[in-house]
Formats: sequence, structure tokens, C-alpha cells
Amino acid sequence: MPVEAGRIEDGRRQMGEGSPRKLIVTGGAGFIGSAYIRKVIAETDWQVVNLDKLTYAASPEALAGIEKSGRYRLAMLDICDRSGVDALLAAERPDAIVHLAAETHVDRSIDGAAGFIETNIAGTFTLLEAARRYRDGLPTDRRDAFRFHHVSTDEVFGSLGESGAFSETSPYAPNSPYSASKAASDHLVRAWHHTYGLPVVTSNCSNNYGPYQFPEKLIPLTIARAAQGQTLPVYGDGRNVRDWLHVEDHVEALLAVLEKGRVGETYNIGGNAESPNLDLVTTICALLDRLLPEAPHRPHADLIRFVPDRPGHDRRYAMDAAKIARELGWRPRHTLTSGLEETVRWYLDHRAWWEAILDHKYDTARLGLGAKAKTA
Ligand code: NAD
Repeated sequence: MPVEAGRIEDGRRQMGEGSPRKLIVTGGAGFIGSAYIRKVIAETDWQVVNLDKLTYAASPEALAGIEKSGRYRLAMLDICDRSGVDALLAAERPDAIVHLAAETHVDRSIDGAAGFIETNIAGTFTLLEAARRYRDGLPTDRRDAFRFHHVSTDEVFGSLGESGAFSETSPYAPNSPYSASKAASDHLVRAWHHTYGLPVVTSNCSNNYGPYQFPEKLIPLTIARAAQGQTLPVYGDGRNVRDWLHVEDHVEALLAVLEKGRVGETYNIGGNAESPNLDLVTTICALLDRLLPEAPHRPHADLIRFVPDRPGHDRRYAMDAAKIARELGWRPRHTLTSGLEETVRWYLDHRAWWEAILDHKYDTARLGLGAKAKTA
């Protein structure tokens, strides 16, 4: 569901200006942030400033050539740097902040939570305070139209049993250091709305997959290791269930939430595509068997190995995305079957991208057994 021109016109009128709207996107060099920026530049006339610290998880390659639009620039900055964020807001005078910057890998949060507390909680606090001060100085029409869109996860709701799905009113019950830090950030965003009147909107999304996802996450890790004939680790009994959403569907939902979401509301975003991890890995193996008929390690499913479970591993996530469908007209366009095949093909066509990461940043070694945490 592309954002229609009419909505963009509405947005500009709302701003009380003739010029295009300017967004600051935090974490825009990451997996979802870069997909979001590519979409905003391709389908709207908004200007984008990408506030990103460029951590190990960033992929500037995902935004290659985008400067040519004349509507994009990177500001390499830490969201925890209050004076840096203040200066950026004063210089850029944005109409909205879309906040995706975070430490995002659950396994890394188990090995060492400090960076998650720092960026996800203290960083969000810093950004909220800077946004509040900046907005207070705007003329009334721009102050009213300002938005702070906080991007969060379904993991804040904890783990489900065999049935049911999380709704926007499900109680928060985070179980990992990552999800606890995201839950804390959601609460801060809510409080800055209720206490200070900051016009916020929050979205909570299920597991994403697609191009340029760092190969520490299940789907790209499985593709990369299988394509190299390495064993495929499956945690525990492989029956943990996740609800998968293609990143392009997520970024369409994010645009709808920014443009049409009601201030102070939260929106659940999900793919209605549940799969146990073992089934997902097996499907990827079957796709690779078909797409790599000459591979010496066929059938790829023979590479699967069960490994000790992640400590505190949530059993099942599922999102009820009825509210965003009803209020904002958003629905996912990819099925898991079509999205997975597209994604496997993309990783096979972009080997140089992930092989460089495996050579220089992350060798796909097992993370998240809590070894470092014991001594931290
Ligand atoms: P990612 O790990 O791929 O990218 C994170 C980006 O944030 C990187 O570019 C990194 O450099 C930047 N960053 C990290 N710390 C920073 C700091 N202190 N200051 C500035 N920039 C910093 O993450 P992602 O998977 O694209 O996730 C983006 C957001 O969406 C996160 O907030 C995450 O919690 C949320 N989310 C992700 C998923 C998913 O499946 N990936 C699902 C739901 C919600």
C-alpha cells in the first residue's frame, strides 16, 4: 500500500508550509531503517536526515547512491549525545523523528546488556528530551503537526501459549535484556506524551526478514551458512514460533503510522505468518536445494543441528494486526512463501555483501549462551 500523493499533500498542508516535510530517521543505516529511507525517498518528496552511529549492524551499502536524490544526508551521531542531537535538531528543523536506532540482537543482549540499556533506554530518553525542547520552540502550527514515531517490537509482550495473539492492550512482560530495554523505551515514549504532551505514536512489530538483514539473525544466518555448506544451528527443539513479516511490508506500515496514526496510540504490526523455527529453516533448505542444484551439500536440511536453547527463549509470538488494518488500511502484501523465496534469491545474488560481513565483522559463531554475562 504505497502512501498516496493525497496523503502527502495533506501532510504538507498540515505543516502549514509549501515545502516538503523533513524527517530525522534514527538508525537509518540498519536493516529496517535503510528499507524505510529507500521507500521514503522513492515514494514521497520528503527530505531525510539519517541519524546513525554506524555500529557493527549498520550497512551504508543499503543506501548506496541515495544522495543523488538531493533529499538525503547522513549525520553520523550517537542518540545518547545530547548536545549533538540538540545541534542537529536546531540545524535541520525536522517535522518528525522516526526512531529506529537500537541494539537489536537478543543473543548479544544476553552476553552483555550494557549497550542495550545505554542505547535503547538512555538513548531514547535523550532523544525524547531533545525532541521536547526542540518542539517547544516551534511556531504553533508546526508544534501541533510535529510527530515522534517510536519503532518497537512484539517481544515487549513476552511469550504466548499455543493459541491467541498479542493486541495493543496486552500486558507488557518482556523476558530478555533486549525486550526489557525496548519495553522501557516504549514506556518512556508513552510518559513523554502523557506528561509533556509530545505528539508520539508507537508501533510494535513482529520478526522482520528481507534484504540487508545482518547475518546474525535467523533467516540470513541460515542462508549464509547453508550456502557455504556449514551446519545450521536450531535452538532447543526448534518448535519456538515467530510471526514473520517482510521488511517492505513493515516499512509501508511505518509510513501509514507516521502519516495517519492517531497521536498517543500504539499499533501492532504483524505478518499473520507464524512458523516454528525448524519449519522455517527446513523451508530455506528446500529453496536452496532448488536454487542451487549443483551445490555439493544438497540436501541442505542434512546440515541442521539442534543446539542448546537460548536462555529464557520465548516460546511463541503472534500479532493481532486488526487495529492497523481497520484504522489505517494496512495489510501485508507478501506471503511467507513468496517473501522467503524472494529473500533467499536476494542473498544468493548479493553474496559479496554478506561475505564481507562474515570476513570482517561477524563469523557466525554462536552467541547468547550468557558466558560473558556471568562475569559482567
Ligand atoms: P539493526 O540492528 O539492523 O540496525 C540498528 C541501527 O541503529 C544501525 O544502523 C546502528 O548503527 C544504529 N544504532 C545503534 N545504536 C545507535 C546509537 N546509539 N545511536 C545512533 N544509531 C545507533 O536494527 P533493525 O533490525 O533494523 O531494527 C530497527 C528497529 O526496529 C529497532 O528499534 C528494533 O527494536 C525494531 N524492530 C526490529 C525488528 C526486526 O525483526 N528486526 C522487529 C520489530 C522491531
